[in-house]
Amino acid sequence: MKLLEGKIALITGASKGIGRSIALRYAEQGAQVAFTYLSSVEKGQALEAELQALGIKAKGYRSDASVYAEAESLVNQVIADFGGLDILVNNAGITKDGLLMRMSEEQWDSVIQVNLKSVFNLTKMAMKQMMKQKNGSIINITSVVGIRGNAGQANYAASKAGIIGFTKSVALELGSRNIRSNAVAPGFIETEMTENLANKEEWLTGIPLKRGGTGEEVADCVVFLGSDMSKYITGQVLQVDGGMLT
Ligand code: NAP
Repeated sequence: MKLLEGKIALITGASKGIGRSIALRYAEQGAQVAFTYLSSVEKGQALEAELQALGIKAKGYRSDASVYAEAESLVNQVIADFGGLDILVNNAGITKDGLLMRMSEEQWDSVIQVNLKSVFNLTKMAMKQMMKQKNGSIINITSVVGIRGNAGQANYAASKAGIIGFTKSVALELGSRNIRSNAVAPGFIETEMTENLANKEEWLTGIPLKRGGTGEEVADCVVFLGSDMSKYITGQVLQVDGGMLT
């Protein structure tokens, strides 16, 4: 049996990296997949075709998750196209690293806007439909950096810590409506985002499993939290980090 058969999912930022792996895993598990991209238009279009080839309904939307009005029209369009919304995966994220001493206001604002405000935008819109359905799973991609902090990433760490507080609050507010809210905290995952990380070696040596993780390994966890296998789990932060923070 496929774990996500009959479920409609919206995944933000799926043109590459972890989001792309989540979209593919969701399709393999029978979900109908709506996803977004922003600057990687060709990659987004290629993913749409790849997902459809797996025999599920799939559609990609070019939409900036950090802009409230765009999130509003996106969610309305997805509901019109797919007929509902069961799972929201807030995955879109960026880094603009630098020591605080040299961090500009723009570096701070843009990371908070894309990583944290986007989660507010999408969740606000999706919860309306989930409340009507009396069913839903919201999964927010945070980071171990949001738990432990990281030199050179004060903006990113603040955005990811904010996601954890948001996730737990939403779990408390919407539990009575049968809407679950959980976060996934990846450790060091090999994607474009980590290619240029300043202290990469330091991160890798501190991992008990002695390697970085893959997008698929994060995606497996997101499948679990989207599926009915986790239907009594809410308000949690699940670390997918090879034991890094133990
Ligand atoms: P990535 O390879 O850089 O991919 C980021 C994705 O987000 C892209 O698809 C990008 O789309 C999209 N995106 C960026 N800004 C957007 C916006 N304003 N609106 C919509 N989409 C937007 O990064 P990744 O490593 O897969 O990271 C995915 C998530 O996991 C992020 O939230 C990240 O913070 C988190 N995470 C990653 C790691 C890691 O080790 N890699 C660890 C912990 C947490 P376009 O390219 O089309 O613009």
